[in-house]
Amino acid sequence: MSKSTNVKQKQAVTPKRGSRADVKEVAEAATPGVGGFGEQGLGFSALTFRRRLGAWYRENARTLPWREVGDPYATWLSEIMLQQTRVATVIDRYTEFLSRFPTIHELAVAGEEDVLALWSGLGYYRRARMLHRGAQFVDREFGGKLPRTAAKLRTLPGVGEYTAAAIASIAFGESVAVLDGNVERVLLRVLGQAEQKGAKARAQLVDAAQALMPAASRRSSGENAPRAPLCLQCPVVELCRTRGEHATGVRAKMQSRTVAHLLAVRKRGVATEVLLERRAADASLMAGMLELPALPMGSTQGREPVLRLRHAITTTNYYVQVFSEGAASSQTEGDGVSALMEKVLAEKGDLRWVTTTKLAQQPLTGLARKTLQRLNLMALPQVTITF
Ligand code: SF4
Repeated sequence: MSKSTNVKQKQAVTPKRGSRADVKEVAEAATPGVGGFGEQGLGFSALTFRRRLGAWYRENARTLPWREVGDPYATWLSEIMLQQTRVATVIDRYTEFLSRFPTIHELAVAGEEDVLALWSGLGYYRRARMLHRGAQFVDREFGGKLPRTAAKLRTLPGVGEYTAAAIASIAFGESVAVLDGNVERVLLRVLGQAEQKGAKARAQLVDAAQALMPAASRRSSGENAPRAPLCLQCPVVELCRTRGEHATGVRAKMQSRTVAHLLAVRKRGVATEVLLERRAADASLMAGMLELPALPMGSTQGREPVLRLRHAITTTNYYVQVFSEGAASSQTEGDGVSALMEKVLAEKGDLRWVTTTKLAQQPLTGLARKTLQRLNLMALPQVTITF
């Protein structure tokens, strides 16, 4: 188990066989779990596992702004933000989002553009839209208060099985197992089971996770367990059947794509403006968000980009080149600037000039935000992490 696991207070393994303490603990923990898995199915004491994991957590848990907050809305927000996103990235956005929308009602009545602007940099913008709709739903249907059970939380837009269980257990102490890819991986290692696909295999793991749960649970985290387990630091290493030697499925291979964008900047009095393009409302990714206008790769031949960067989205590494209208190479000087602008103006419909001082309030894509920050057209966020 590593410092960054999110499987904290829910699992346990068999103590060394034959010790008196183990016999006592196994006897103490003879309560069967939901779904019939119970102690027999686990082959070890759930109580022992919970105690060891709990002790490890109390000693190693990081201080994070969404822990022990006592506000179910904040728990909901953190769980949504932490999906597919690193803790360090979430910390800054979480605090800013909560100070702008401190209650579900205030989020519900906000404009979508404002919500997306606060989400900028976190990616997966569908989450922000669903959270916004969820807040409107809770405001309307539940009087602005989140329902207290995983079953009811599942009725919210954008809240799946995992998130519902996480909110219910953290915010309301419901004894419901949280099973995501990280928990699944650890359970398979501890139980010494091979990875299997399918509803039946998953149902068995849900049973196992539930069998490890106490009568009422408290959970707080949002970190991801690493793919390589740190067994030497693990509080249940003596009880684990695999100790890291566990075959896992093949991860999706990262794809590579090269893309180009135009950086067009102009002066209007004392203001500096940058040209941005709004993505189509029906785009499958980041619909309606603002980005630097895309350029066909063929139009950049013989030119030097003012910036190169790499940006990963799901399983694709984008190698991004940004071309400034003032950066044509010697071969193309004279027609470079206008040629690029003409390409963009001819092919793009929804373009707008935005003052650089107002960029932070715009619903920028993560890549646009990163690019504008690297080019010093936009301030970098201040991030404070407490350990
Ligand atoms: S011993 Fe290693 S594989 Fe087993 S639970 Fe601990 S960290 Fe995971």
